Amino acid sequence: MTDHDKTNAGKNACATAQMLYCDVSLPVPLDQSFTYRLPETLRHRAQAGCRVLVPFGSRNLTGVVVKTHDQPPGGALKEVLRLIDEEPVLDAELISLGRWISQYYCAPLGEVLRGMTPLTGETRKTKLYSLTDAGRDTARQLLLGAADDDSTLQVLRLLEARPLSASYLQKKLPQAASIIRSLEKKGFIEIEDIEAQRDPLRASSARLRASWLASYPDGMKLTKRERELHAFLELHPGTHNLAELETSVAGASQAARALARRELIKLEPETPTGVFAAEGPPRTLNPHQLQAYQQIEEALRSGKFRTFLMHGVTGSGKTEVYLKSIDACIALGRSALLLVPEIALTPAMAGQFFHRFGDRVAILHSAFHDAERAEQWRRIRGGAATVVVGTRSGVFAPIRGLGLVVIDEEHDHSYKQQETPRYNGRDVAIVRAQAAGAVAILGSATPSLETRYNAAGGKYTLLELPERIEQRPMPEVEVIDMRQEFLETRKQATFSRRLVETVTERLEKGEQTMLLLNRRGFSSYVACRACGERLECINCAVTLTYHRRDRRMLCHYCNYAQKVPSVCPKCGSEYLHFIGTGSEKVEEELHRDFPTARIARMDRDTVSGKRHFETILHGFREGDFDILVGTQMIAKGHDIPNVTLVGVVSADIGLGLPDFRAAERTFQLLTQAAGRAGRGDLPGIVLIQTINPEHYAIRYASEQNYNGFYEKEIQFRKLMRYPPFCALANVLVRSQKQEDALTMSTELGRLLDPAPEGLKILGPAEAPVPKLKSEFRYQLLIKAANRKRLNETLRELQRFAQERKWGPTSLVIDVDPLTLL
Ligand code: ADP
Ligand code: ZN
Ligand code: ZN
Repeated sequence: MTDHDKTNAGKNACATAQMLYCDVSLPVPLDQSFTYRLPETLRHRAQAGCRVLVPFGSRNLTGVVVKTHDQPPGGALKEVLRLIDEEPVLDAELISLGRWISQYYCAPLGEVLRGMTPLTGETRKTKLYSLTDAGRDTARQLLLGAADDDSTLQVLRLLEARPLSASYLQKKLPQAASIIRSLEKKGFIEIEDIEAQRDPLRASSARLRASWLASYPDGMKLTKRERELHAFLELHPGTHNLAELETSVAGASQAARALARRELIKLEPETPTGVFAAEGPPRTLNPHQLQAYQQIEEALRSGKFRTFLMHGVTGSGKTEVYLKSIDACIALGRSALLLVPEIALTPAMAGQFFHRFGDRVAILHSAFHDAERAEQWRRIRGGAATVVVGTRSGVFAPIRGLGLVVIDEEHDHSYKQQETPRYNGRDVAIVRAQAAGAVAILGSATPSLETRYNAAGGKYTLLELPERIEQRPMPEVEVIDMRQEFLETRKQATFSRRLVETVTERLEKGEQTMLLLNRRGFSSYVACRACGERLECINCAVTLTYHRRDRRMLCHYCNYAQKVPSVCPKCGSEYLHFIGTGSEKVEEELHRDFPTARIARMDRDTVSGKRHFETILHGFREGDFDILVGTQMIAKGHDIPNVTLVGVVSADIGLGLPDFRAAERTFQLLTQAAGRAGRGDLPGIVLIQTINPEHYAIRYASEQNYNGFYEKEIQFRKLMRYPPFCALANVLVRSQKQEDALTMSTELGRLLDPAPEGLKILGPAEAPVPKLKSEFRYQLLIKAANRKRLNETLRELQRFAQERKWGPTSLVIDVDPLTLL
């Protein structure tokens, strides 16, 4: 927080301060705030961090007040239309965090702040139309003696009575949209973006729980069903899932809503399933855990910012150290934040938190409903919840008195947001901890190269948990050379004989198997044997994936789908050939090879809702299945004791990608997958099938040798000047017209040619995915000697694009990109 912000916040706290103006940050791709006049009634109420509705061009927009003041700026000013929050939704600390993000990631502040205000989820966006004065005059004239069948007149007549929402007009008149557009052009209509309050009673019955609240006065008229339901709830205390109530009381859903409106019963959102899994009592830390904990505790006590890297092998008990550290933090009267890559994938961890911290926990679950999320937000904001568990955006939770931030699986790519602002939640969390004087813990079995490098240089303090809990052995890993397998069997099999034999053994012993396959669909693509043509997406220039279940070819970037042709579209040959192996095909071969096994599959085809992950994982943990097949999401963090075999069907997918992180990602995936085996009392074994058995990523992963991998990879990064030895950004230009995309990228390239001091430029070149969602893409990689140099350069490119009036979305800047694809 700058001194300026502090005085400003101080003034705002004082109710008598009357500011005449406010600076508002708007969600537009322009890097500036806009000054508005505050109307009389809002002068003592508007504060920095509150949302306001303001006119902008021909529209009205919701923005965040970043400052109130009484220095009149030059020029005519528009007035704030409405104050949305009586209390700031973003405090000074979060606004300054937003400023940092905006600066570091070169993203407009307004867009950053919009992403930080969680309550936007609570409201529904709609447009409200009203007549302008000119419109009103015209309407009056036209309406005199006009016939009724003219739809323009109908719209005017409707709007004459009162302003109407877009959806209402649409219902009345299907052609309203085009009429509105032409009326707006003529200046007869004003459009306001409003955010309608969403009615919580509208949530689906499966997501609501009902409980009895109050008896009703004599003489109140209730329907028979309402009386029945009310009586049922009175006789059955506690909360009941509304959809399930239907089986006891017919028509319960409808009756419940009516009763809730009269405040006779209470309806509240369902909590996600699986989260409440009970766990055992706190454990006594083993010596390694204790040593790590003591250093963290000491740092917490000192009240100063410090970052730890807790590098613990899989199954070393990192979670227990987090829990103890959070205990210590709370005991010191401060709050704690835990970030995880995906809550739905770690229900057990969420369960442990509930068990340990009870009511003090707020879980920012992505499966939560808007209203539920708003409720959690308020509990955090009000101080009732002092332990917050969330995913990437949880880093913006309105926590007061933050003392500890834990980032679990810090290497995970889901911390990086793939749209503007392209921030990395891990790095933002560290910045937030620094501002709050808090301790940050980054935990991983496979730390990212950058993080491990920071620990080596002393910027982070390294804590190591080199052994599994109770000295359980690390799993034994075998690498299976699939080229050799082919030579010996002369068959293109998905599973080697060794893997089949080992799975059979598990089935006989009643132990469980996880099979990792990093690609979905029945087979990865279709090619012509005669001419080599691959079937590609018409929008994206990437191969289409065959999905057998619905016999379609699907694009995984844009969802374009088509039927499988019977002949090659290029040469007419009939020899179309299915290449590669998808998880669907694996499952089919599994059913064939192990007809009695109970098999579950988890990937984005079977797992639609996030709650589904929990159901499948829960079933697997409970022993409902013998084999779990899935994409990389099964490699993440699960702790299922009865899994004694992990099979990696093909370790090669991913190694061939044109991306400097390919080796790192492969190493992390294999090590994490291997780490799922043998976590209980039974030792585990891991089989990795590959056609690149000598690749160092595969070799070190099979030895579970992180340090070996790190030493080798860091040499490569240094030699090639990749992060952490440079500050990297990917600059992408895109356009519907290939010519334009090409011209823009060429101009950017020329601007940086010859490369100024301290910069190295790669490209411009066609992006690895040259066409996506009908847009042509070219990219330019910028390697800079330091942050400052990188940031200046990116700003220069942005200014250049603005001066040339390129469209606001044609330039995409990704600072610290995790993928170049
Ligand atoms: P990691 O996240 O490091 O892979 P976990 O935190 O999942 O490991 O811990 C692995 C297992 O060991 C869990 O079942 C956990 O409950 C258990 N565990 C952790 N600490 C202890 C301890 N001190 N004593 C006994 N069991 C422990
Ligand atoms: Zn062909
Ligand atoms: Zn596509």
